[in-house]
Amino acid sequence: MRKNRLQYVWILACLWCTSPAQAELKTAINRAADALNDQVIAWRRDIHAHPELSNREFRTAALVAEHLQSLGMQVQTGVAHTGVVGLLTGGRPGPVVALRADMDALPVVEKTGLPYASTVRGEYEGAEVGVMHACGHDNHVAILLGVATVLSGLRDQLPGSVKFIFQPDEEGAPKGETGGARQMIEEGVLENPSVSAIFGLHIGQQGLAGSASFRERGFMASAQRFDILIKGRQTHGARPWAGIDPVVIGAQIVSALQTIVSRQIDITAAPAVVTVGAFHAGIRNNIVPETAQLSGTIRTFDPLVRKQIHEKITRIATAVGQAQGAEVVVEIDPGVPVTYNHPRLTAKMVPTLREVYGRDKVYISERVTGAEDFAFYQEQVPGFFFFIGGRPLDVLPEEAIPNHSPFFYVDEGALVPGVKALSQLAADYLAAGGLGATSD
Ligand SMILES: [Zn+2]
Ligand SMILES: [Zn+2]
Repeated sequence: MRKNRLQYVWILACLWCTSPAQAELKTAINRAADALNDQVIAWRRDIHAHPELSNREFRTAALVAEHLQSLGMQVQTGVAHTGVVGLLTGGRPGPVVALRADMDALPVVEKTGLPYASTVRGEYEGAEVGVMHACGHDNHVAILLGVATVLSGLRDQLPGSVKFIFQPDEEGAPKGETGGARQMIEEGVLENPSVSAIFGLHIGQQGLAGSASFRERGFMASAQRFDILIKGRQTHGARPWAGIDPVVIGAQIVSALQTIVSRQIDITAAPAVVTVGAFHAGIRNNIVPETAQLSGTIRTFDPLVRKQIHEKITRIATAVGQAQGAEVVVEIDPGVPVTYNHPRLTAKMVPTLREVYGRDKVYISERVTGAEDFAFYQEQVPGFFFFIGGRPLDVLPEEAIPNHSPFFYVDEGALVPGVKALSQLAADYLAAGGLGATSD
């Protein structure tokens, strides 16, 4: 597309379109974040040394609540078990933006040898386990406490409000319990006042400390389990016509499901996987059994594709069964949705991320097959989730230690940039008056 002269003038003008007040706020945020370096590291080490499993984040929640209260925020505790929500009302009217940090640790015995390494033991689903912040959520909490401190100090200059969501149980609740982002939403975390956008981050060694990465639209996978029960009619293996054979029907269903990804989904838009991982039927060679059971997993990166796959699995399995007189019951676990970065919000906020990290330190990520329960918020309101690098300079990319490893650690130089990133994202979002009305 050719640009006319007027458009060039507009583009040049816009290079300086940050108002003096906004520029002043940006400088103040950076200065306040730099001054917090030691405090944020101290919080992080304290939380790291006292990790708590999902839905058991009592000490962490108390520490968070106490700090938010000391900042003069309106604080709600006990949300979705141990969640803490703080509301910072800015000095001027405007939209409400939410920032989220997850607080839970994992049943892992820490082997980093760090001076503040965890020696905590806990109980997980009846077994005694070590407890470790092996996913780096200690960093997320410390960063968000830093952001709360920075923005509270500048509240008079904020045109809108910031809701701080300290969420329990990102990793998944123990058997028989509920929790996490979904329960926080059910308990109204996005209401009163109504949140219009949400930001969150995750640390890892994929990127160097001082860098960030993101992906527009489908960023991290949605994962669901499905179960298919085929009810036939038992008979002698020598007289199959006297019954309905669920083994043959099950085999046909497995084959038919292969056509979903290969023939019925536009995989140029986003990849998808449908895997049948288990097929259980029968006990003896000469009995046609009563039932067969299939179960599998679905991975998708696009909410529409996810919905289509659910419909197709149900339709195909039911129709193949019906064609032979069997009853088929399909159950698809809701699982975790796609971590879906709203395209217009992403486009609007990425310049802020580049300002904080530098243009050449913000990368477009590959799709990530892991799942994140931040996705539940993104189903409700436009959201932007990004990764921050935590790999020390002397560690090569191929030596990067994955999250959930007992050796996982991060370079604490990543913390202050994280504080700046979330603070500036919130400030810039509020200064822009929110996302605007255009629908996507
Ligand atoms: Zn994790
Ligand atoms: Zn995590």
